Amino acid sequence: MSLSLVASSIPASPTILLNEEARLLREKGEPVIHLGIGEPKNKTPITAILSSAAKLSSGDVKYVPTDGTPSLKKAIIRYTEENYNRLAAPQNIIVSDGAKQSLFNILFTLCNPQDEVIVLAPYWVSYPEMIKMIGAVPVIITPEDGSFVACFDEIERAVGSYTKAIIVNSPNNPSGMIYPEDLISKIVDMCECKGIYLICDDIYQKLVFDGKVAAPSYKYTQKDVESSRIIVVNGVAKIYGMTGFRVGWVVAPKKLVEIMTNVQSQTTTCVSPVMQAAAEGALSGMQSIVESLRLTIQNNRDVLMQELRSFTDVFCVKPQATFYALPDFKTYCRNSVARNSVELSSFLLKKALVVTVPGKEFGMEGYLRLSYAGTVKEITEGIERMKWALDPNAPSEIYIGDRKLVRDWL
Ligand code: PMP
Repeated sequence: MSLSLVASSIPASPTILLNEEARLLREKGEPVIHLGIGEPKNKTPITAILSSAAKLSSGDVKYVPTDGTPSLKKAIIRYTEENYNRLAAPQNIIVSDGAKQSLFNILFTLCNPQDEVIVLAPYWVSYPEMIKMIGAVPVIITPEDGSFVACFDEIERAVGSYTKAIIVNSPNNPSGMIYPEDLISKIVDMCECKGIYLICDDIYQKLVFDGKVAAPSYKYTQKDVESSRIIVVNGVAKIYGMTGFRVGWVVAPKKLVEIMTNVQSQTTTCVSPVMQAAAEGALSGMQSIVESLRLTIQNNRDVLMQELRSFTDVFCVKPQATFYALPDFKTYCRNSVARNSVELSSFLLKKALVVTVPGKEFGMEGYLRLSYAGTVKEITEGIERMKWALDPNAPSEIYIGDRKLVRDWL
């Protein structure tokens, strides 16, 4: 059977695969600890529940406009004014099935085959694959100094006649870093001067710690939404913990939104009005919910850092935002246990029943991404199990569930 070469070359999302593996193990009764998953444990905000329930019980759940319901767009316009200091018209906004579909639509709308899109490592797993899916070419910039922040000169050197766009994800999944203002401002200048689109994936914008702020790219240009090269992606998945509702949106110049709307009208038609009502409820409700989630996650970050400090030869840059950390496990990626981050991650799942995501998937071999979106107990127990499996200085016996295990491989 002959299938599409492009489609056949796309691997499954490793984070989604790991979720499935963990789910199956849990179903079998295994006490798996999930430090791989990127979703907070909080309950859906009540305003989102009430507003989607009202829509559902109206019995009037039909097709709605492809680019989003007028009332959700109003809430997004308010959000854009409050958080980006920009006035957006309804025609500057399109609502999609999660920020993931928003990103795919943007790339599909911008790129011709062979066009290049600059991606900064460490990067979110789906960017390079989406770029490949539309026949464009991801150009990855990896920081050479071992930091998680690309150097502007290298970004500038990568720009050529095929460069169509650059994706900036700050706060960053997987590193938890907020890019320095100086870097963002240089990227904005470069994009405006050279006519390159700047795709800002801002879905972690509000999950920042220690009083830090992730300044939006618009801060560094006088231009308005319509005349700027900036495209902003956002959604309810992370800041409200509403991952299952699948609502994301884009703020961009009208022409781009118009084409994205045509594309979406031929693929998914529209986002379910029930889910759009939920997003509207979250955006219009009490925002103290975001602050309490932020505080919980900041505390989790502190617990994780504390636990990692006593892990021999593991180094971790303290995350400034998101719910991820990207500790350096290189010492444990070159021994009899594992030769790389993929082997290390599967060793940890097999021996210690802890899910982690290999750094390789984010363009950072030798690292593991750990999520601290779960509970304090999961974090402390998860790291304790990882130490037991890897660190020769850790006690060689451990209880996992009701089984007492003895380490016999170090
Ligand atoms: N961008 C980044 C950086 C993400 O981490 C994720 C989800 N893990 C997404 C986009 C997709 O978000 P959504 O669930 O709204 O599709």
